[in-house]
Amino acid sequence: MLPEELAAEFKAMGLPGYRAGQVFRWLGRGVRAFDEMSDLPASLRRELAGRYTIPTLTLLRRQVSKADGTEKYLWALPDGESVETVLMRYKHGNSVCISSQVGCRMGCAFCASTIGGKVRDLTAAEMLDEVLRTGLTAGAEISNIVLMGIGEPLDNFDNVLRFLTLVNDPNGAGIGMRHISLSTCGLVEAIDKLAALHLQLTLSVSLHAPDDETRSRLMPVNAAYGVDELYAACRRYFDVTGRRISFEYALVRGVNDTPAHARELARRLGGTGSHVNLIRLNRVEERGLEPSDEETVRAFAKILTDAGVTATVRRRLGSDIDAACGQLRRGQMRKPWNSLD
Ligand code: SAH
Repeated sequence: MLPEELAAEFKAMGLPGYRAGQVFRWLGRGVRAFDEMSDLPASLRRELAGRYTIPTLTLLRRQVSKADGTEKYLWALPDGESVETVLMRYKHGNSVCISSQVGCRMGCAFCASTIGGKVRDLTAAEMLDEVLRTGLTAGAEISNIVLMGIGEPLDNFDNVLRFLTLVNDPNGAGIGMRHISLSTCGLVEAIDKLAALHLQLTLSVSLHAPDDETRSRLMPVNAAYGVDELYAACRRYFDVTGRRISFEYALVRGVNDTPAHARELARRLGGTGSHVNLIRLNRVEERGLEPSDEETVRAFAKILTDAGVTATVRRRLGSDIDAACGQLRRGQMRKPWNSLD
């Protein structure tokens, strides 16, 4: 519940407003039981426990990368579904990558999350619990959030927005919008809707190809919104919010990684101040697509930077623990449900 909803609920019970504030602060710290809310009278704790439950995620599996300390969590949801969260430790703070849906219906050709389709949306509370529970289990203070896990966040717009409001609240987790990134495969109407809210978060767009022909091979969403429409929406987003968009581009061998693709990308993005995040494709067993080799990645990046488009090659973290894009949930799905290793 949002603070004002909790306040209304408490008012209806004839309780003073500050009690709602106390409970909201406890929930924002991730307590699992009313009994832990030590500044509430015991009688109120009992009353609340009789009327309400605090649904939480339960840990199915935790993997820690030997190489770089990245941690991957597989969480069970109250209905038995599962989602993944990744914790990345950087010098500037800890970042969690959260899922926004169980599965995904966007169908990208290289992505493990979409293989079984979308099962359901995550609620705002479940997304919040991914952040809180991961921080508590890892013993790590979370300073940044990226919505780049399983699911298409803009396909779950209202719940994601509610989550952002909750996690941003200074009496809750208090994570500033400038510390949050949201990644989308490019749902144009939703990008416009988001722009109108003037949030200070960072929007990333998964482009993966500069032209319709190549993009349609990789991303079915391109049939609904072609690249011209998408570039135009990105432009409007920048004009309305003043926030630059960053573009994700996973390099797939022989598909979108040629010098001609790089030049076309530079032509489309040149002069917009956009940033391109180049990602070496993570191999997904079921997909049959291969990552580009190091040299091709470097050459691709150089064409962009020579043309004045800033490009960075994303560091690979957690590749020894299936940290990419729905791979752990897939692995779990191949096994009998709830076998943990
Ligand atoms: N649905 C959203 C966010 C989740 S995916 C989106 O499409 O942006 C987060 C990023 O990982 C996206 O850029 C996605 O295209 C990319 N991705 C998915 N599978 C990948 C893979 N096998 N290798 C590299 N990047 C991948």
